Amino acid sequence: MAKHAIVMIPGDGIGPEVTSAARDVLEAAGLSVEWVEVPAGAVALEQGFENVLPQRTLEAVSAHKVALKGPVTTPVGGGFTSVNVQLRKKLNLYAAVRPVRSLRGVKTRYENVDLIIIRENTEGLYSGIENEITPGVVTCLKVATEVACTRIARFAFRYATNRHRRRITVFHKANIMKLTVGMFLNCARRVHEQEYPDIEYEELIIDAACMKVVQDPTRTDMILCENLYGDVVSDLCAALVGGLGVVPGANIGDEAAVFEAVHGSAPDIAGKGVANPLACIMSGVMMLRHLNEDAIAEKIKHAYDAVLTEGKTLTRDLGGTAGTKDFTAAVIENLR
Ligand code: NAD
Repeated sequence: MAKHAIVMIPGDGIGPEVTSAARDVLEAAGLSVEWVEVPAGAVALEQGFENVLPQRTLEAVSAHKVALKGPVTTPVGGGFTSVNVQLRKKLNLYAAVRPVRSLRGVKTRYENVDLIIIRENTEGLYSGIENEITPGVVTCLKVATEVACTRIARFAFRYATNRHRRRITVFHKANIMKLTVGMFLNCARRVHEQEYPDIEYEELIIDAACMKVVQDPTRTDMILCENLYGDVVSDLCAALVGGLGVVPGANIGDEAAVFEAVHGSAPDIAGKGVANPLACIMSGVMMLRHLNEDAIAEKIKHAYDAVLTEGKTLTRDLGGTAGTKDFTAAVIENLR
């Protein structure tokens, strides 16, 4: 089997705990891999780098094209620019893919949830263009370009076609932001009509859409959103299937892909050994499929399904008492 060179970015907070768990599981499942470990986040500054996203880290992801990343801490209301926003923009990782699925053994209010969020990752209100007009008056620019809106719409419809999904729903607010969100909507409509008329297409104003998805999430198949809405809707949908500990993600561009859980660095539980590593392990499984290592991906999926179904080694967020290492060991035990 070919040896993969995969970039590993442990990140901050619970990042090192969950990425190390994913690394152990992937290796135990038989992945032939050389990890290229590089820093990002507050930890990069602690290690003496001048930037939270060191050039070395960017170059490693560009060179090897695939990375597994832990979450990084971003200071609120000051400090440095988000590592994630920089990474996604600099490497043009324009599509965030976040599958949200009910898991056997994870008790929630809902059953049979199986939806996928596609979030535009490079513009919108996350363009980082903020200005002080005059003391006491500040602005934040929301950017929408036809190129990026068309690119993400095409990605979503292509993804739907390849994965045999039936419907894409755009969550939007084009009734208020007529030009920017209007552009997002027009591009999605055009791609649907001209290129993918066989996939069902629907538009919902985001406030009502959130209510509908909470009322009956099984109605939703794929959600397509611009940047901010995708960020918010991802955590909302995570709550439908057991929380942030069970929702994986991928940031995909034409040249590289970075796999990471939806959750953040969880400073409230960092270093306590109680974080749920499953979302990071599942992100690793998405990465394996991207690398055409489907057999190893299936093996890991069966192993964590077995641990969840048995229900004896669940982490605290899922109602159990197991720590990060206990859960990881149980998954590895079930690989055999
Ligand atoms: P968070 O996702 O870190 O945590 C929200 C809540 O969920 C917390 O109570 C936390 O304990 C819990 N949680 C999250 N992941 C968990 C896991 N694996 N197991 C068990 N419980 C888990 O969100 P936050 O507190 O709003 O943000 C903390 C920091 O993370 C901020 O600096 C934020 O900017 C950053 N962040 C980073 C990323 C990323 O790097 N991809 C994503 C989101 C937030």
